Amino acid sequence: MARIVMKFGGTSVADLDRIHNVARHVKREVDAGHDVAVVVSAMSGKTNELVGWVKGMPKATGANSPFFDAREYDAIVASGEQITSGLLAIALQSMGVHARSWQGWQIPIRTDNAHGAARIEEIDGSFLIKRFGEGQVAVVAGFQGLSPDNRISTLGRGGSDTSAVAIAAAVKADRCDIYTDVDGVYTTDPRIEPKARRLSKISFEEMLEMASLGAKVLQVRSVELAMVHGVRTFVRSSFEDPDAPGMCDAINPPGTLICNEDEIVEQQVVTGIAYAKDEAQISLRRLADRPGVSAGIFGPLADAGINVDMIVQNISEDGSRTDMTFTVPSADVGRALAVLETVRDTVGFDAVQHDDGMSKVSVIGIGMRSHAGVAATAFKALAEKAINIRAITTSEIKISILIDGPYTELAVRTLHSVYGLDKH
Ligand code: ASP
Ligand code: MG
Repeated sequence: MARIVMKFGGTSVADLDRIHNVARHVKREVDAGHDVAVVVSAMSGKTNELVGWVKGMPKATGANSPFFDAREYDAIVASGEQITSGLLAIALQSMGVHARSWQGWQIPIRTDNAHGAARIEEIDGSFLIKRFGEGQVAVVAGFQGLSPDNRISTLGRGGSDTSAVAIAAAVKADRCDIYTDVDGVYTTDPRIEPKARRLSKISFEEMLEMASLGAKVLQVRSVELAMVHGVRTFVRSSFEDPDAPGMCDAINPPGTLICNEDEIVEQQVVTGIAYAKDEAQISLRRLADRPGVSAGIFGPLADAGINVDMIVQNISEDGSRTDMTFTVPSADVGRALAVLETVRDTVGFDAVQHDDGMSKVSVIGIGMRSHAGVAATAFKALAEKAINIRAITTSEIKISILIDGPYTELAVRTLHSVYGLDKH
């Protein structure tokens, strides 16, 4: 007998038929004798609709904030999950499964005060463990929690993945099954490269890079949590027949297990290729080369909430002036340039240049730690396709390359093939 947290995303609970299908997946695990807790998202499109309603409201008189009262935003957008948790509990009851819905505040899932993008601070697992003892399937509304001032909070878009992993950690589950509309994590985006393969296993670290760099299967925060708490997380499809043979087994059904690297026996050097489009490059020319310059640039950008990604600074020839290049999301270029103007005199640079429509393509694999020449292979392959490299950054397990946007697909396919990831 195992303890399993099952999470179902928006497309898996999109209508009553699908909710019924989800109930069959849950019943299968219950019948196998497992302790089961379920986490649900809102029906697909519901959260967008709720957010749209909030945005359609007039702002409070005198309010100069660009946004709405975040506490009311949370009270409204958290409601989608309340509906699906209740509907799934009813569907389970109709199949003779002892089930009950629970909202974030009832457990409670305690978060910080950052309404709209709250972080989970504490979940006392004993509430759900007691439900296991009673033979009850707790159906928990994902995405929501309870803030320190006793109000409903939400965890940011896609946050129900994080709810599920945090609950799995709190009840020390053997596994967190994330049911979604794809059957796992692929070596790259199959829409760009049809030869992409499903990975049977991927390490936490690699998955964190894949998710941060554009693979949209899981909320990044959920992968961080899974890594910190060692929650074995299995990404699988809710559209498989719930009663097909082997579906109760953690490894047999199609899917990808995100786990510790020592659980992965056949480690490849490169595991996947990720990409992010719509990056912009900003270069500061002839920048003073002295202590405090980087802080003077990136501090104000951070204060403005602009997410800076790759940063490349050259070593100056004579110790007086240098160049600095970094990337930001294309949508933030205008704001970034405005911030840079305000620091031009204090920081001291001659010119700012910028270019939109860049893409970042990344090669990821923990095998890189112990293999030389991985980067050189990428550069050579891109050169053969006449793809120009604008900037490069690396970490122990990743090489990221900035290129012109129109070459994204070609670069992804080229790298996928050169590292032997194509399916045969
Ligand atoms: N319903 C929320 C959203 O659409 C949370 C989630 O689905 O994970 O962002
Ligand atoms: Mg999601």
